[in-house]
Amino acid sequence: MYEIIRLRPHHLLCTQGYSGKGYSDDFVLNMNRITEKLRSDRNARVEIVFTTDSLCDDCPFKVSDGICKSDNKVLGFDKGVIKVLDLEESAYSYQELISKLDEYLSSGIEDERLQAICGDCKWYAVSACWTHIKNKKYVV
Ligand code: SF4
Repeated sequence: MYEIIRLRPHHLLCTQGYSGKGYSDDFVLNMNRITEKLRSDRNARVEIVFTTDSLCDDCPFKVSDGICKSDNKVLGFDKGVIKVLDLEESAYSYQELISKLDEYLSSGIEDERLQAICGDCKWYAVSACWTHIKNKKYVV
């Protein structure tokens, strides 16, 4: 059966920046599986949700459906991406969304636009987010 991947808005960034590190072994396994699918299937569609999603499912920070221990940060990251893409909770082409998002982010000064959305994320400095987004590595 075709799996519909649910993604919260800021995970449109994480699925591009991810480089194999994560919160736990289960989280990494799930992240590997989902990013592999999104990065290899140019027709992949995602269900955008403004709450916990398919990546949160195996995360130790998920408290329950709809609640993340880091909501004070991650809801702000989501808000930034919703604003840029004018998102609604609906199904979209993953490629169309990341194309638009990367276009917007790389037309600023260096990484200022990305930093404004998620610069205080703990992974910002250790993952390859800006490099991948700037080079449009996963846009086909
Ligand atoms: S930290 Fe929160 S938003 Fe990020 S994957 Fe875990 S539960 Fe989801």
